[in-house]
Amino acid sequence: MDHFPVFLDLRNRLTVVVGGGAVALRKVVLLLRSGARVRVIAPALHPELAQHRDAGRIEHHGAGFAPTQLDGAALAIAATDLPEVNHAVAAAANERGIFVNVVDDHSASSCLMPSIVDRSPLVVAIGSSGHSPTLVRRVRTQLEALLPARLGELARLAGAARARVRRALPDIEQRRQFWDRLFTGGIATQVYAGKFAAAQALLDAQLARASVAPRGEVYLIGAGPGDPDLLTLRALQLLQQADVVLYDRLVSDAVLERVRRDAERVYVGKESGQHRVTQQRIHTLLLEYAGRGLRVARLKGGDPFIFGRGGEEIDALAAAGIPVVVVPGITAALGAAASACLPLTQRGVAQSVTLVTAMGEGAESLDWRALAASTQTVVFYMGISQLSRIVQHLLAQGAARTRPAAIIERATLPGERIVAGSLHDIGERAQAAGIEAPALLIVGEIAARAAGAAAGLASLGVPHV
Ligand code: SAH
Repeated sequence: MDHFPVFLDLRNRLTVVVGGGAVALRKVVLLLRSGARVRVIAPALHPELAQHRDAGRIEHHGAGFAPTQLDGAALAIAATDLPEVNHAVAAAANERGIFVNVVDDHSASSCLMPSIVDRSPLVVAIGSSGHSPTLVRRVRTQLEALLPARLGELARLAGAARARVRRALPDIEQRRQFWDRLFTGGIATQVYAGKFAAAQALLDAQLARASVAPRGEVYLIGAGPGDPDLLTLRALQLLQQADVVLYDRLVSDAVLERVRRDAERVYVGKESGQHRVTQQRIHTLLLEYAGRGLRVARLKGGDPFIFGRGGEEIDALAAAGIPVVVVPGITAALGAAASACLPLTQRGVAQSVTLVTAMGEGAESLDWRALAASTQTVVFYMGISQLSRIVQHLLAQGAARTRPAAIIERATLPGERIVAGSLHDIGERAQAAGIEAPALLIVGEIAARAAGAAAGLASLGVPHV
C-alpha cells in the first residue's frame, strides 16, 4: 500500500487552499462540508468563492503566497495553475509537518484526495496512489450504481438505534444477526424507497420482538422491455438481495441474468385465456413465500402498473399485511419509442399519448372515437392477432387510411424489428413480415418517422422490415 487511507476530522481546524479557480472551489466546497475552517490565498476569486467570502464562510488573503500563511494549519492544498507556486506551498507545508496535496501532481503531494462516493455519513473513498485516475473514476461510477442513494439515511437510522439494540440484544452474535437482517431486509428497503416512518415503525416492531423470525416482504419490480441495461438501479439492487424471484413470460433472459445467483427462480408466466386462475395462483405463491419470511421479487415485464395487474397483487399482499415495495420499470411503449426514435408527444404534432390494451373482451368497450382523433399518439399493447380489429375500429371512427402506423416487435431485445406503414396497409405489412409477440402498435403522425428509422437501420445493415 503506497498510501495510508484515513478519514480526517477537520471540524474547526484550519485548512489552507492556495488558488482561487474552479479546482480550488471544488476543494473548498468539500472542506466546508467537512466543517473545516478554510483560508483561501489567491489574488482573484472564482465568483462562487467570492460568495463564500462575502458570506463569511471562508477567510480570503488577496496578496501572494507567504509560507507563514500555513502556520497552524492541519492541511494544505495547492490548487493554482502555476507549478512554482504549488511547489513553494508544498515546500512550506513539508517544513512545517503539514500534509499537503498538490492538485494533479501526486509526486509533489504528501497526501492524495480520494475520489468519493458520498452517502454521508457513509463515505467510500477510492484512490490508486496516482496510478490511474481514469480507473478510479470507473470504480467510482460502478459503486455509485451499486449503492442506494439513501444508504446514508440507513446508516443514520442504525446509528440512532445502536444503544437501543445493545440493550435489547446483549448477546453479540444475536446483535450481529439483527444488524445483518436490518441491512438486507424490509427496513433497509423502506429507507431506500424514502419511507422513513415505515422503516422506523418496522425497526421498533423488530426490536420489540427481536428474537422472532423476520417477516417476509415482496418487491414488485418492473423489468422494463427486455434490455437489462434499462433496469432501474433500485431494481438491480433488489434483484441482488431477493431470496426468490417470480417472473413472467415477458421478462427477458438477460434480465434474469441480473438476479442473485443463488436465488430461487419461479416461472409464473400465464397463457392468455387462463388469467383468472393463474393470477390467483400467483397471489397464493406470493403469500406463501413471503409468509415463510423470504424476500420475494415479483418481476414483471415493463412497468408493473401498466397492463401488469400489479394493482391486484399489491391488494392481495396488503390484505395479508405483507410489506410491498414497488419499483417502476420502463413500460414497453417507452422502450419501443426510444428504440425506434419516435417522440410520443411533439409540439404541433401529438399533444397527448394514450396507452391502451386491445386485448380481451374489454376491447369492444374502448372509446374508439377518442382513439381515432388525429392530434395524439396511441400505443396499443396487444396480441398481434388483434391488429386487424384495431385498424377496423379506428377506420370506422373516421381515422384517415393514410394515418401513419408502426409496429415494433421485440423492442430493445435482440432481433428487434420495426414495420412502418399506415392504417390501410400496416396489417398486410405485419403479416408479410411474420410479426410475432411481443409487439406494439403505434398510431399517429409521429409514427411516420418509423419509416425513416427503418431505412436508417437498413443503411447500417441492421435487420428491419
Ligand atoms: N407491463 C408491461 C405490459 C404487459 S402487456 C409493460 O409495461 O410493458 C404485454 C404487452 O406488452 C405485449 O403484448 C406487447 O404488446 C407489449 N410488450 C411488452 N414487451 C414488449 C417488447 N419488448 N416489445 C414490444 N412490445 C412489448
